[in-house]
Amino acid sequence: MFSRLTGNTHAKDVLSRLIAKGRVPNALIFAGDEGVGKRQFALEIARVLICKDAIDGACGVCSACVRVGSFSMPGADDRDAFKRVIWSDHPDVGMVTAHNRSIFVDAIRHLETEANFLPYEAGSRFFIVNDAEKMNDAASNALLKTLEEPPLDTHIFLVTSRPDSLLPTIRSRCQMIRFSPLAVEEVERYLIEEKAFTSDEARLPARLSRGSVGRAVAMNVERLIEERADMLSVLGSVIETGDLAAALKIAEKMNDAKHKENYEEALGILESLIHDIWRIRASDDVTRAVNADLADRLAHLADESGSLDLAGWLDEIETLRQNLAVNINRKVATDALFVKMAAA
Ligand SMILES: [Zn+2]
Repeated sequence: MFSRLTGNTHAKDVLSRLIAKGRVPNALIFAGDEGVGKRQFALEIARVLICKDAIDGACGVCSACVRVGSFSMPGADDRDAFKRVIWSDHPDVGMVTAHNRSIFVDAIRHLETEANFLPYEAGSRFFIVNDAEKMNDAASNALLKTLEEPPLDTHIFLVTSRPDSLLPTIRSRCQMIRFSPLAVEEVERYLIEEKAFTSDEARLPARLSRGSVGRAVAMNVERLIEERADMLSVLGSVIETGDLAAALKIAEKMNDAKHKENYEEALGILESLIHDIWRIRASDDVTRAVNADLADRLAHLADESGSLDLAGWLDEIETLRQNLAVNINRKVATDALFVKMAAA
């Protein structure tokens, strides 16, 4: 069962057992980081329970299976469309989704009304609430009412990366299924098999995705490679040549009009490189490095880095990252970071 889905063996086990016993709860929370497949699992459960040809899992090819996953999502300018349940091509499978930052209470009220109708085709009706943490108080309370007396043949699946932001009273009425970040190899395989990446193209985004296929797919590989070359030359400057001016030039580039949108991504790459150098210095194990394809270069930097306080650099970057939320001058902060790194 769930063989078409990537990773998350634990969630697969728990859900398979619930399905085998015929005890899929009316209300489930799918909790875990962005882009690890929570919504795909929720839809797959609907499929398993709806598919008439299900043997070990849904067949995936019958009309019902195909329609379950087929949604035409409204555009962001169609605000009113988000005040209702958005149906898939299957009349018993719908979704509630946030518009900008919040889920409209009207959408949850519509879910409540629809949950009380008998299923059209299937044995039960399925409602997925995406980014459930985006429900405001009114929407949460409306949903709570439905969860308190769930109609028998209804399943409500809350999908969230921040389960702690849900009302405790909502959490206590749902069984929680936890999803973990995927392994690098799993993300890589997904990119190659589902997104037609070559294995060269898949390597870097998979390694920088922190276990999220969503994040990996959204990355622009050419841009990543350019950013990584820049960050690598910053490290070359501060570790090998002491050429601070060269590093500051890159700080300027990171903050110019063309690149400032990707500032945090570049910072993340810098972090990953420092981490790798640190790891290589500590254990000589290059294979587990995020940037394993640069092993030789990184090993050289690790040798040259001597007793430099790499952990201290990572702390500085973390502090900078936190300060981004309070609208600091990024150029000044980046300069200050590179100056500190070069000073050691
Ligand atoms: Zn089927």
